[in-house]
Amino acid sequence: MITDNLNRIKAELPSGVELVAVSKFHPLDHLKEAYAAGQRIFAESRPQELAAKVPAMPADVQWHFIGHLQTNKLKMVLPYVSLVQSVDSIHLLEAIASWAGANNHPVDILLELHLGAEASKQGFTEKEIESILGKEPYNNIRIRGLMGMATNTEDEEVVEKDFQRIERLFLKYKGTIPGFDTLSIGMSGDWPIAVKHSATMVRIGTDIFGPRV
Ligand SMILES: *Cc1c(COP(=O)(O)O)cnc(C)c1O
Repeated sequence: MITDNLNRIKAELPSGVELVAVSKFHPLDHLKEAYAAGQRIFAESRPQELAAKVPAMPADVQWHFIGHLQTNKLKMVLPYVSLVQSVDSIHLLEAIASWAGANNHPVDILLELHLGAEASKQGFTEKEIESILGKEPYNNIRIRGLMGMATNTEDEEVVEKDFQRIERLFLKYKGTIPGFDTLSIGMSGDWPIAVKHSATMVRIGTDIFGPRV
């Protein structure tokens, strides 16, 4: 099942778009099946769950963090992940910079743009992101690009508008900041739309693993 799903998605993804398998709430045997099928990038959204899964999976897995990250949980997450996709406040950005400096461990991050209608969603405004990108870079933090989640709706036009907003912002800075090359948009319901709007990375859970348990 998982192997077939992965193969189908990989066949449909344009080359150059990285597939992140969102394994949150899935048991280890699901992750292991995906690993056996060749998947190497996995994403988790809760520090505790990440901490439990990292030692149980092979060492060449690349872990991404995609959930809301509290600053008192940094040491459970930052040593183990190659990318924090969900940086959503200046407070968190500064805490990561300070952890990275103290531990001499540079951290790659994406800035999360608040997209979509849901007020509950996390993320910066466009203005805030432009202000961060316009300032002196933080030591020990590499801002690799942007992440966003479109409005949760069947209305493709609304999703398309959301992706256009983040695409515009991404293309404005791509090539002007060293290493700023990643646009992480698109999940199970909407990734085909995301790849039409410059996605370089999609985050897919349900379409690979089935419903979360
Ligand atoms: C859970 C989650 C996903 C994956 O969602 P699916 O609909 O299961 O593909 C992607 N991105 C983020 C930030 C998530 O929290």
